[in-house]
Amino acid sequence: MPEIPEIQVIVDGIEKEVVGSQVEDIIVFDGRRVDDNIKQVVGTSLESVRRHGKAIILQFGDTTVMFHLRLHGFVRIVDDISFPEKGWIVAFHMGDKYLVLGDTRKLAEAKLVSEDELKTSPDASQIDENTFKDIVSSSGTIKSTLMNQEKILGLGNRYVDEILWRAHIHPTKKGRDLTDDEIHKIFITMKEVLDEAYRQGGDEHYTDVYGNPGRWSSSVHGKKVCPVCGTPLKKVKVGGRTSYICPKCQPEP
Ligand SMILES: [Zn+2]
Repeated sequence: MPEIPEIQVIVDGIEKEVVGSQVEDIIVFDGRRVDDNIKQVVGTSLESVRRHGKAIILQFGDTTVMFHLRLHGFVRIVDDISFPEKGWIVAFHMGDKYLVLGDTRKLAEAKLVSEDELKTSPDASQIDENTFKDIVSSSGTIKSTLMNQEKILGLGNRYVDEILWRAHIHPTKKGRDLTDDEIHKIFITMKEVLDEAYRQGGDEHYTDVYGNPGRWSSSVHGKKVCPVCGTPLKKVKVGGRTSYICPKCQPEP
C-alpha cells in the first residue's frame, strides 16, 4: 500500500502539472469506483492538492475530491487517453493534460468528501514527540498502534516494519512496556525513514505521476536476510498483517 512518501510524491506531481487548471471534462472508465456526482467539478479549477494520511485531497472550488489508492492504486498525468492502460478508473481532462486515477485490482476510488468526513488523527510526518508518546504508550502492540489510522495517519505495513527493525523493537511489544528511550528511538527513526524514502521518490514498488518507480527499498519487508546481522528474517502475524522481523535484532518481548 502506498504510504506517506509515495502519496507525497504523487501530490507533488499533481501540484506541478495541473494545479490551477480548469476541468474540461471527466471520463469515467469504471463507474463502480467513482462518485456518482463527480462531474460537478467540470468547469471548476483545481485550486490545491494535499496529502491527508494515505489519501489525496483535491480542492475544486467548493468541492473536495478524495483519491484513495488502497493497496495498488496509481495516479498518472498523461497527454493522451486514446489508449487507456489496464486498470484506469477515471480521467480528469485539464488543460492539455489528463489526470488519471487507476488500479489494476480496482480497489482505488475517487469520491466527493466533506472536511468533517476526514479523520483528525495526527499525521506521522508532522506529529510532535509528546503527542506520539501519549498515543503509543497504550495497551496495544506497537505495530498495531502505528498502523491504526484512528490514532496516527499515514503509516502502513512496509514502513512500520522498517521503523521497528531499525529501532530494534519487536512488533508485538506492548506500547505500555516500552521505555522512554525506546519510544524516543521509534519516533526519531519514523521521521528518518519517512524523510529518507520521500527524498528517494518513495518505495520501488510504486510510481510517480509519470510512471517512474521510487528508488527506496525496504531493508526487511519482503526480504529474506537481515542486512545488518545476516540472520534469516522471520514472518510473524501481528494484528492480521504479516510482519518481517529479524529474530536477533528484534528480540521477542
Ligand atoms: Zn538482524
